[in-house]
Amino acid sequence: MTKNERVEFVLKRLNELYPDPPVPLDHTDAYTLLIAVLLSAQCTDVRVNLVTPHLFTRAKRPEDMVKIPVEEIQAIIRPCGLSPQKAKAIAGLSRILLDEHAGQVPNTLEALERLPGVGHKTAQVVMAQAFGVPSFPVDTHIHRLAHRWGLSDGKSVDRTERDLKSAFPEATWNKLHLQIIFYGREHCTARGCDGTVCEICRTLFPKRKTPLANASGKKPRAKDSSESVTLMTAKKAQQKVVKAVRGAKKLAKATATPVRKALSKTKSSTKALRSTR
Ligand code: SF4
Repeated sequence: MTKNERVEFVLKRLNELYPDPPVPLDHTDAYTLLIAVLLSAQCTDVRVNLVTPHLFTRAKRPEDMVKIPVEEIQAIIRPCGLSPQKAKAIAGLSRILLDEHAGQVPNTLEALERLPGVGHKTAQVVMAQAFGVPSFPVDTHIHRLAHRWGLSDGKSVDRTERDLKSAFPEATWNKLHLQIIFYGREHCTARGCDGTVCEICRTLFPKRKTPLANASGKKPRAKDSSESVTLMTAKKAQQKVVKAVRGAKKLAKATATPVRKALSKTKSSTKALRSTR
């Protein structure tokens, strides 16, 4: 299959499977979405959706949030993990929204990424899901599946984002990133999977033999496979030993020659001394 054929297949199949994927995080506006996405770092959407109703009952606008002590925000969001950092970020960004953006969530990537606790992925989710601006936030599922589907070489999340944006039409990005997330959540629980189990992976690489072939379908490099890494390490260690032995032999030879010469000189001097007696 060519890359274009894989792109076509992914779009067609995901549209059949998830024709209208919902936004997984419950929210009512850009601000509540921003807070929910921030809370979802290292946490499941299900858990975030259990926690946010409590938080938003206390405050669902920046002007209300800044009135809550950070300790209270932290106590409410504790089930989401990383609560000290997240509470501080929620309080901090709410203050900035009030001071610099008239209490509104800004609709540019640059302004969003300047807010505390808001990284590139969070900013892209807000751009896509709150403002409808074409974006391709890449999470673990998208990163892994883009690699398995031969759409990116999987070297970094940034690279995956660039590859996916160039592979798919801009008009598909906002829906597609959700569709891939839903497919990943439904099918892709096996991290060590060889990419031959589920339908789309199997279809895109029907003859896959090795677990982690890269995007071009080439044989994986040593760093892609733990087994190869072990073998490489052993080989390197062996080469080092051989080198060390050779070095030791050379050294022994180098030091032995002057000693031998000195000995033979001593012998001849002794001989000469005896003959003079
Ligand atoms: S075959 Fe299934 S489990 Fe394996 S990588 Fe693909 S989606 Fe994930």
